[in-house]
Amino acid sequence: MIIKKEPFYKKIGKEIEIFEHAHLNKLPLLLKGPTGTGKSRFVEYMAFKKEKPIYTVACHEETSATDLIGRYIIKGSETVWQDGPLSKAVREGAIIYLDEIAEARPDVIVAVHSLTDFRRVLYIDKLGEEITASDDFMFIASFNPGYQRGFKELKPSTRQRFVSIPFDYPDPKVETEIVCQESSLDSNTAKKLVKIGAKIRNLTELGLTETVSTRLLVDAAKMIHSGLEKRLATEVAVVEPLTDDEETLTALKDLVNLMI
Ligand code: ADP
Repeated sequence: MIIKKEPFYKKIGKEIEIFEHAHLNKLPLLLKGPTGTGKSRFVEYMAFKKEKPIYTVACHEETSATDLIGRYIIKGSETVWQDGPLSKAVREGAIIYLDEIAEARPDVIVAVHSLTDFRRVLYIDKLGEEITASDDFMFIASFNPGYQRGFKELKPSTRQRFVSIPFDYPDPKVETEIVCQESSLDSNTAKKLVKIGAKIRNLTELGLTETVSTRLLVDAAKMIHSGLEKRLATEVAVVEPLTDDEETLTALKDLVNLMI
């Protein structure tokens, strides 16, 4: 995919410089951090800036090396080879972005080994082919370290292959700016949403698997901007996605009612 329009991306730290140097030195990148903190948006933004095509794969437990590399398919009376997104990216000198790489099957990690070290080579067993990546090719993966239960880990030997950039929830001023920009909501209401987000993030005793991401705040802001009642929008976009536990829901809804 070619990104034609510049995506809005609010720089948080030194991630742009790090990306540039990883690219210059042909090093693979790992974006670490909770969901909804701008990792995918950052990759899209950099792909636009670098004028590179990008192939994104949202990894899940069924994602296999074949899905990435390619397979033979039947077309009429013939069997033809079809490159997967990884092979395409390597051939074209594009960016491959494996979102949530730890979720994929273990054979994915094995398949990308030779691409993520000095060899920068992809072996396509079924074709007996070896493709060397051009200088333009870039390997990026994301990973949610998930300090709480329910997340898969990435082996230390795999992690050590990557230059890693940490992503986290931005500070309130920056987050308000992102929420306003993404939703066109007024900054006063956006500020309140951001405060609610920060408050819930601090309630670690609730033991939520995932907490309020910038994405959830943006979703609530969009609905408020389009006319949905503030409390209702915050309840359905921010609170309900977090838990199904009745007691926690009631507590969080009370909190929202107090704060917005
Ligand atoms: P991740 O890939 O980390 O799960 P995304 O990149 O999809 O998260 O971000 C989710 C949403 O949050 C984006 O669609 C965007 O609205 C907003 N967002 C988060 N961080 C930023 C940022 N730094 N700049 C612009 N938008 C952001």
